[in-house]
Amino acid sequence: MSESCDLLVIGGGSGGIATARRAASYGAKVVLVERGRLGGTCVNVGCVPKKVMWHAAEFATHAAHAHNYGFNAVPQDHDWSKLVANRETYIKRLNGIYDRNLDKSGVEYVAGEAHFVDTRTVEVDGRQISATHVLIATGGKPRWPEIPGAALGTDSDGFFTWTQRPERVAIVGSGYIACELAGVLNALGSQVTLLLRKDHVLAGFDAMLGETLIERMRAAGIDIHMKRQVAELTEGDDGIIARFEDGSTIGGFDELIWAIGRVPNTEALGVEHTGLELHSDGTVPVDEWQDTPVEGIHALGDVTGAIELTPVAIAAGRRLADRLFGGMPDRRLDYHNIPTVVFTHPPIGTVGLSEAEAREAYGDDAVKIYTSHYVALYHGVLDEKTPSDMKLVCVGEDEKIVGAHVIGDGADEMTQGFAVAVKMGATKRDFDDTVAIHPTSAEEFVTMT
Ligand code: FAD
Ligand code: NDP
Repeated sequence: MSESCDLLVIGGGSGGIATARRAASYGAKVVLVERGRLGGTCVNVGCVPKKVMWHAAEFATHAAHAHNYGFNAVPQDHDWSKLVANRETYIKRLNGIYDRNLDKSGVEYVAGEAHFVDTRTVEVDGRQISATHVLIATGGKPRWPEIPGAALGTDSDGFFTWTQRPERVAIVGSGYIACELAGVLNALGSQVTLLLRKDHVLAGFDAMLGETLIERMRAAGIDIHMKRQVAELTEGDDGIIARFEDGSTIGGFDELIWAIGRVPNTEALGVEHTGLELHSDGTVPVDEWQDTPVEGIHALGDVTGAIELTPVAIAAGRRLADRLFGGMPDRRLDYHNIPTVVFTHPPIGTVGLSEAEAREAYGDDAVKIYTSHYVALYHGVLDEKTPSDMKLVCVGEDEKIVGAHVIGDGADEMTQGFAVAVKMGATKRDFDDTVAIHPTSAEEFVTMT
């Protein structure tokens, strides 16, 4: 006989925990199964440790500017192992908080790996649990290329295990992780080489952001190679050597990080016992309600191939629980206008359509672009006056703002508020009518002409 519950959640990451706790708040009997550390990717090998490293890198950058602000004795040495130890202590504390919060919410937490036995039953270490609703929230893991010698490299999970700073690091990839880790390592003193298979970073973002970031990364000392598809890794006397498809090579590196996207955690789930057919890339198919084609099985977060962001998984989960257990039949996540920040140096904030997407959707004549290129006041007394850039993408006669993009100091903190405005359908006139806050960088968004 299997035990039974209302909701069985597979995966104790951002989406799984949020769904479980919200469902339990409505009185549902909820079991959550997690095979690793509570908190999932975000807490253990994602947003949280990454942001700690980003803060360290920001500190290093500011320390280099400190003499311009009159400081004579600024710390030069950096103890990477101490930073990592402090970071891991903080994460352990978060793991404990997640555990206690599940308990406080009345969610039963089962440690172990879940496998489907049938459509509504899951087995964990020999224990069978049946549920009216099963949620797949198993997230993803880094993608690795299938090329000779790939194992000489590591991935973002590996980066977070380093207890010492490597001297020479190559990063392969052009997305969030490649750009963020390049910035962190460069600021903390490693020699960083970024290997792009094409000629851009951050595909899908407004082109201004990626182009400006490349300029800023190069100015900061990151060595960027374009149109270089790595075909093989070998180990030489002087470290890792990457051979490209055209036969040329580059090296030696102490570490090489694969940052080429992620793949869903579905291979060991046993979905074949449920009749659920996965997409060819392994992601779980869902409709706008987070329902899979199999009744009673739901999925959300990275495992669905949705926008891979923690707040997206959380928001989808809370709305699913509201719908299934909270008596709110219309609740579902609207995936439009989701804001995001890339924690590069400088950071990038973006919400809505890129200029190219707006032109494609509305036609050139309907689109009006406003830009601002400015030097933030912080740089006023510095030797190096790194500029910032902003863009507003407006459409129609009333100039509705369908995209807001910024790369520069403070972008990480200013974007959330502007995302509210974009989500509410603000027009350029609304921005113009908003009195600026001076002196800030954010005021540039409401003073563009
Ligand atoms: P996860 O958080 O990955 O949780 C899935 C959980 O399921 C895991 O704990 C896994 O162990 C467990 N699991 C898998 N299979 C089983 C099984 N069979 N049985 C039991 N348990 C199982 N997002 C942001 O919004 N901001 C950021 O700054 C940010 N930075 C990131 C930095 C890095 C380096 C990475 C890799 C990601 C980052 N992300 C960021 C993305 C974010 O971490 C993910 O979008 C988010 O964690 C997805 O949540 P999830 O619940 O879908 O999956
Ligand atoms: P991304 O999808 O962001 O970027 C990976 C990119 O690498 C691809 O788009 C592709 O770009 C390039 N690529 C793919 N295969 C290869 C290859 N074989 N060789 C060289 N380049 C290749 O993936 P990430 O791994 O950076 O991050 C995964 C997700 O995690 C992100 O999409 C994001 O949603 C989330 N995340 C969020 C963060 C945040 O919120 N700040 C931070 C980190 C991650 P192209 O085709 O253009 O070359």
